[in-house]
Amino acid sequence: MRQTKFFTKTQKEAPADEQAKNAQLLIRAGYIHKEMAGAYQLLPLGLIVIQKIKQIVREEMTVLGTNELLATNLQRKELWERTARWDDKVVDVWFKSELKAGGEVGLAWSHEEPIADMMKNHISSYKDLPTAVYQFQNKLRNELRAKSGIMRGREFIMKDAYSFSATEEQHEAFYEASKVAYSKCFERLGIGDDTYVTFAAGGAFTEFSHEFQTVCESGEDVTYLCKEKGIAINEEVLKKADLEELGVTRDELVATKTAEVGNIFNFGRQKAEEVGLFFKDKECERVPVWMGSYGIGITRLMGVIVEKFADDKGIVWPESVAPYKVHLVGLNLEDDEIRDWVDGIYSALTKRGVSVLFDDRDARPGEKFADSDLIGLPYRIVASRKGKESGAFEVVTRATGEVRSLTEEEVLADFVK
Ligand code: ATP
Ligand code: MG
Repeated sequence: MRQTKFFTKTQKEAPADEQAKNAQLLIRAGYIHKEMAGAYQLLPLGLIVIQKIKQIVREEMTVLGTNELLATNLQRKELWERTARWDDKVVDVWFKSELKAGGEVGLAWSHEEPIADMMKNHISSYKDLPTAVYQFQNKLRNELRAKSGIMRGREFIMKDAYSFSATEEQHEAFYEASKVAYSKCFERLGIGDDTYVTFAAGGAFTEFSHEFQTVCESGEDVTYLCKEKGIAINEEVLKKADLEELGVTRDELVATKTAEVGNIFNFGRQKAEEVGLFFKDKECERVPVWMGSYGIGITRLMGVIVEKFADDKGIVWPESVAPYKVHLVGLNLEDDEIRDWVDGIYSALTKRGVSVLFDDRDARPGEKFADSDLIGLPYRIVASRKGKESGAFEVVTRATGEVRSLTEEEVLADFVK
């Protein structure tokens, strides 16, 4: 992609009311636009990152054996009343609206109820089970505070999955497999080393639900970690649970700032019972389905990744989610000979499948370097008059600052896999 043809622009300043580092950097680097507190447009660069995050999650959801669908954002009042969750006192993040034809609708903050209800058309016998579906959907939540940038939006993208099982064993097996799938996602997203499966309160059937908490200075949560044993406990559980049962003592746990990137939840049979999702088991008895729900914060992840890896010059993307792998920075392009040489490496790389953002703008080197640092692609290849004379490109690794001088042949050998 040539930058002169690309809809992107960096900015010196983020909006004055933006306090969060993730949003400040993403706005300045041209990934997102702040529409209002808690609502951000995804610009072309930001959309590529989100699509990469989604694709990793999608692949792991496929391995887990779930099917993608897309539910509506408009939801029925009657359905949420059935589970006693329409009331604002019970769910304090509802956005609701009036239909012109009369009656109220809810705007999706979650999809547990509608999807469970929809599954009545698909589940009638134990032979239909187990099954699971998932989606990437915009959630709307009337969050009281939206000060963490895209880490807490009033509108945000979530991956939510729902499992339906005939027996406790089936249900447990899926729940455990989802933990493995989630860990794989976070590993591929570059945050596997310090993302922990965390005991959390809740779960209609079990004592605990599980959060996936990743160490992050600007996260809104505090998690109690014992890294040696790999045990993590959230604040609520710390107050209530018997730590001995969890295999850890209080002084082994270190309070750590974290961000919740995922959450898996066990409904047992309660949700299905409330919604009215029953099936005929092997004995021909009519019983409720075992249900679980599994969320990952897609847009929050983009913010968390920015917060975790950024340095004082800007964003530093892990390769798996970077919008492009290489930032080709062309200097002295007013000279036709140099322009041809830089065009040459650009087409050689792109032809071989390397994704390249080519800074072909007419701008000063200092400005180009500063923008390139801010945008944060994994590798920068600098092509200048000096380089052409010595036949070498300067290759800089964004994360480490390592600088190498490589010929075109060496660049291709290094980047084309
Ligand atoms: P939190 O405790 O952070 O408010 P939650 O427990 O309400 O989150 P869930 O309903 O479990 O969140 O949603 C699943 C995932 O969606 C969360 O783990 C988080 O990563 C993400 N998420 C939740 N709320 C928001 C939000 N307002 N903005 C962005 N992502 C969110
Ligand atoms: Mg949660």
